Amino acid sequence: MSEVIALGQPTVGEAELAAIAEVFASGWLAGAGPTCRRFEERFAAAAGTRHALATTNCGSALHLALLTLGAGPGDEVVVADYTFPATGHSVLWTGAKPVFADVRPDTWTVDPAAVEAAITPRTVGIIAVDAFGQPADYDELRAIADRHQLFLVEDAACAAGATYRGRPAGSLADVATFSFHGRKGITAGEGGAFVTDRDDLAAHARKLHTYGVEGALTRAELSHLPIPSFTELGYNYRLSDVAAAIMLAQLDRLPELLAAKRRTAARYGELLKDHPLITTPYQAPDREHPWQSYVVTLDPTVDRGAVALALRERGVQCTFGTYASHVQPLYDQREPCPVSADLFARHLAVPMHANLTDAQVETVATTLVDVVDATAAR
Ligand SMILES: *Cc1c(COP(=O)(O)O)cnc(C)c1O
Repeated sequence: MSEVIALGQPTVGEAELAAIAEVFASGWLAGAGPTCRRFEERFAAAAGTRHALATTNCGSALHLALLTLGAGPGDEVVVADYTFPATGHSVLWTGAKPVFADVRPDTWTVDPAAVEAAITPRTVGIIAVDAFGQPADYDELRAIADRHQLFLVEDAACAAGATYRGRPAGSLADVATFSFHGRKGITAGEGGAFVTDRDDLAAHARKLHTYGVEGALTRAELSHLPIPSFTELGYNYRLSDVAAAIMLAQLDRLPELLAAKRRTAARYGELLKDHPLITTPYQAPDREHPWQSYVVTLDPTVDRGAVALALRERGVQCTFGTYASHVQPLYDQREPCPVSADLFARHLAVPMHANLTDAQVETVATTLVDVVDATAAR
């Protein structure tokens, strides 16, 4: 087979290697060190928040968000249904119950009316998800959260560089969480961040992410040595300083990566817009999409499995979109989320990353059209 066009691909190189070499020379490789601090300051500025905490991944950042906001056994948290397992799992980790709310058919973000309908006397908060990076309806969600005195979390795992009504992703809820996994827009292989404007939540999360004690950097700055005591169960959710160095270089690249993916999304849009069996993704006019994935919706008559198989045979990687959570046996939910279930069955993600050439984008689009036409004709 000739060249394979990758679904996702990190953009890393000399700048990241140089940043790693600097950390090696500094002697501080562990987490929560001086390089993490520098990254956290820059990331908070980019997210438009007062605080950022670098974490091992987005799942641990979500766990910290729920712990610091006070979710626990007996509580319910309303969660956007169409999402990665981390979102619902993080609620279960606290002993609370996720109650999944259906999504909008156009943006694939949680439907504020469905959130409102899912609220019960046990509900303590809401987790909205920026679907493939496109932000949810935060003004409407904020109003619902305030009316019912609930917390609001933004799962911004895919949303680095996105905006909503001119405000950056990350600044749209009480706490937002990011992922720096290799499939996301900026990456250190693995990693994440917890961001917030609230001093109390930031301080609590910082303590919980280092076993519930003061971090080594803080200890090193204290001139006396107070006797520490353990008052709360914490975790090791620290990002290493090696990974933080990679993230600093990735932040420098972010504008260029976003521009490349926006060009690709626009080109896919032109090449696929007139096909009767393929619907291209909708971008709401009041938000900027960071294009973590490019996901098309196939007509219900199209055999998605056959399309995926044929695309892969022709060297174009692809996958489904993300997961309908409410149908997963782990979560034990009876209320249906028909829009999410439909997207779960019909979505197809095709290659999207900043390294795609114009020729590769054309190849993906023409191959997709060919394969869908051939499948539909059978
Ligand atoms: C990828 C992803 C996560 C999980 O991120 P990790 O860093 O792997 O924990 C959580 N939520 C959403 C919406 C994601 O896409």
